[in-house]
Amino acid sequence: MSEFHEAVIIGGGPAGLTAGVYLRRAGIDAALVERGVLGGTAARTEQIDNYPGFPEGISGADLTRLMAEQAKRFGLVVKEFFDVSLVSRKDDGRFLVTSGESEIETRGVILAAGTEWKQLGIPGEKEFVGRGVSYCATCDAMFFQDQDVAVIGGGDSAIQEAMTLANLCRRVSVVHRRDRLRAQVVIQERAFRQGNIEFLWNKAPLEIIGKGQVESVLLRDTQSDGRSTLKVDGVFVFVGLEAKTAFLGDLVDRDRAGFIEVGEDLASKTKGLFVAGDVRTKRLRQITTAVGDGALAAVGLEQYLLEAR
Ligand SMILES: Cc1cc2nc3c(=O)[nH]c(=O)nc-3n(C[C@H](O)[C@H](O)[C@H](O)COP(=O)(O)OP(=O)(O)OC[C@H]3O[C@@H](n4cnc5c(N)ncnc54)[C@H](O)[C@@H]3O)c2cc1C
Repeated sequence: MSEFHEAVIIGGGPAGLTAGVYLRRAGIDAALVERGVLGGTAARTEQIDNYPGFPEGISGADLTRLMAEQAKRFGLVVKEFFDVSLVSRKDDGRFLVTSGESEIETRGVILAAGTEWKQLGIPGEKEFVGRGVSYCATCDAMFFQDQDVAVIGGGDSAIQEAMTLANLCRRVSVVHRRDRLRAQVVIQERAFRQGNIEFLWNKAPLEIIGKGQVESVLLRDTQSDGRSTLKVDGVFVFVGLEAKTAFLGDLVDRDRAGFIEVGEDLASKTKGLFVAGDVRTKRLRQITTAVGDGALAAVGLEQYLLEAR
């Protein structure tokens, strides 16, 4: 027989942890499942300066650890390394949340599964993951101390990550397909002042090359179509985010980028299934908005559970 909880939250980032606090404070028997360890994307952010209540800023790891402690204080059941592979709805309206051989039955679900970095999809990328190709400067910068790296992308995350790398690396080459950045002006200005960051404008990566370890990137000039080789020890890819929610099948509607479409109350098209945080279509993907979503989804689910009784 499968384990039962009244509510299951999928994802242990700020949205899921906040939903956990609200559900438990409403007296609902709730479990949170997380495919890795608690904290989500936020835990990998070195310094968070725009979350209220921390005038000196706080590291993402510390902030999410505090969120997790708070949720656990109210008795949230937490299951780490529970990678959800399927969510299905039974005839009686209950859900089954499955990970490998494990299964949890529940009356309501809050999906707070966040986003993942998009891949470039070029030769060499997959082969060199963990051997020079990375999607997280905060996690991997230390492996490239005094070395040369490329950052692919021109948005806020790419430039923030380039600055993290510039603190440790010898040279950081930002490779961007256009002739100006998309990042906020204040972030751009800080990057332009950093002596060891160079900008390679109108360039797109074609292939990552190496023998066992990344050695260079083949670049295409987006204007002249000319080719050039950039010698680097590492390639950090930040070309946008995507939501991976195939495990929900057609229980939800998605936009073209895979983000889940919900109404203002965060209810999906399937009764009892609510969606919170970065995984849904929204204007601003931040911790503040994820936390707000977590609260709203929990209140929506609480109402649903009361009415469905
Ligand atoms: C480089 C970078 C810097 C940032 N800096 C800031 C900042 O300074 N300030 C700020 O406010 N925001 C910042 N953000 C954004 C912020 O991190 C996100 O908006 C926030 O973490 C979203 O929270 P979430 O709970 O929706 O998703 P996430 O934090 O992404 O958490 C989702 C969780 O769901 C889990 N999950 C996914 N699929 C499954 C599955 N199938 N089964 C089980 N678990 C699953 C994931 O492992 C993850 O732990 C930054 C983001 C990045 C990438």
